Amino acid sequence: MLPQMLPATPRYYSRPPRYVPSASDVRVTSGHIGGALQNISESGLLFQTSAELPTKGDVLSDLHVEAQQVLVRLPEATVVRTINGSANLVACRFEGSGSSALDSLQTVISPPAYITGALRRGSTEGVAKGLTHRQFARFAAKKDRNLLAKCRDFYGYIDGLQEVGAYQTLYRVTSTTGLDHRTSLYNPFSGQEEEFICFDSNSYLGLHVHPRVVQATQEALKSFGYGSPSSQILSGTNRHLRELEETISAFHKREATIVFSSGYAANVGTISALVNKGDAVVADQLSHASLHDGARWAVGGRHKVFPHNDSHALEEVIQDAQRETRGGVLVVSDGVFSMHGGLVDLPAVRMAARRNRATLMIDEAHSTGVVGPTGRGVEELFDCEGSVDVLMGTLSKAPGTNGGYVCGTRELITYLRFFARSAMFSTALPAALCAGATEAFKIMMEDSEPRERLRANCEAFVSGLNQVGYDVEPAESAIITVLIGSPDLVVEFNRRLFQRGVRCAAVAFPAVPNGGELLRFALNARHTKRDLDECIGAMEQVGRELGFLG
Ligand code: PLP
Repeated sequence: MLPQMLPATPRYYSRPPRYVPSASDVRVTSGHIGGALQNISESGLLFQTSAELPTKGDVLSDLHVEAQQVLVRLPEATVVRTINGSANLVACRFEGSGSSALDSLQTVISPPAYITGALRRGSTEGVAKGLTHRQFARFAAKKDRNLLAKCRDFYGYIDGLQEVGAYQTLYRVTSTTGLDHRTSLYNPFSGQEEEFICFDSNSYLGLHVHPRVVQATQEALKSFGYGSPSSQILSGTNRHLRELEETISAFHKREATIVFSSGYAANVGTISALVNKGDAVVADQLSHASLHDGARWAVGGRHKVFPHNDSHALEEVIQDAQRETRGGVLVVSDGVFSMHGGLVDLPAVRMAARRNRATLMIDEAHSTGVVGPTGRGVEELFDCEGSVDVLMGTLSKAPGTNGGYVCGTRELITYLRFFARSAMFSTALPAALCAGATEAFKIMMEDSEPRERLRANCEAFVSGLNQVGYDVEPAESAIITVLIGSPDLVVEFNRRLFQRGVRCAAVAFPAVPNGGELLRFALNARHTKRDLDECIGAMEQVGRELGFLG
């Protein structure tokens, strides 16, 4: 039995609920200043104006909201922020309380979609409930002439989770600001937007908010617009995409690179281009789903797996495959395993593949920019640069945006341009994202400071957890995990950390084997000492409450 749940005592910043106009044309006016209301709360409002922007610090007296014959007087407000761009936005803070104005505006404002819509506010009761793989599999396997019947059943199940408040503690908790070392979320328990310390961002170096990256993205956005809507084999190739390919090739010291719209598309497209029905794929069992899915698709059914990092077993599986088929064998593995943060045993896996004339593909998604003396990933760490035949990476981790890539020889990349269907039959990445990602790779090559800060953060975090009584291995990557070992306990642990303002991931089957349930903390270079100390403090308290420590 789990001990009684404690009431939430948030010590962290929270802001009152915001409302958005539900009628069209709700206007804010103050003298000659005015514009369209974007949102309003009892403490302030945001409006968009096509007129000249006021200055930060200006006081707006005689402030009104007008809509559908409703004219409501608002308290005096001070301009706290203006955003001058394609949308001219003005954020104001009321000097008094705006709650009576909100009451009067009820007919023209409503809560935003993250509060209404499919998501509901949960209670704190009955939440400790791990979702098992079997429950999911049961829905997908349901046989019915009506293929949509499984959707109805599943919807009923999710609705039940919402009733007990479990859904939003597990899925789709909604951020109301950008992801960073701290981020604001809509907390379904309190019904408020609150600030959380965030250990669930893959931007390990914080490059998604780096001024150079943001500026490069903005400049390309201005000249190329917000999309490059054509396939890269046709008109989707532009100078920013070409520059990104060149920069990634230089980073990984390879002849050429092909960019995909996601890491998932890169893995599925590449494996299914290289491997046909007469070939075989052998994957480390803990590899990312996109490697397993690519393998399954390529061989038209079940592919082969080998026990995690076991190179002797790998050799046997390769040899079994070679007895069954006259085709080639592709060995695939993560460089850093995404759920527990450990490393591939690259020298042993590479030797097993070499000895048996198999081709080696390594997914460097979580190692690029993080692992190795200059952040070139596991190849660099194990001092065997250039030895992986097919090197895959993502733009969605340290580079901080969307996209994936594969680099290697010119022959490999030219072949993939025509045979990787997820690149050929898919729209190119927007030029602006390519420009930002190029800058991110340049920073990774030029500036070791973010990586050093990240490493110092990882060391401090592991040492702090061990000091309060956990048994955590030294960090091999930016993913630090605490083994909990029970599906229900990991959910309850996570919920209590959430109640204390810590956002991390509870990982259970099928992402990890049964009994391997863990809390996953993704650290980044922007975490401060205060962030780490507060999280370690929360881990200590929750560990004691749940009888996990001491
Ligand atoms: N490979 C690994 C190891 C991952 O962790 C991920 C994670 O998302 C992917 C591939 C897929 O990348 P993306 O999110 O860019 O599709």
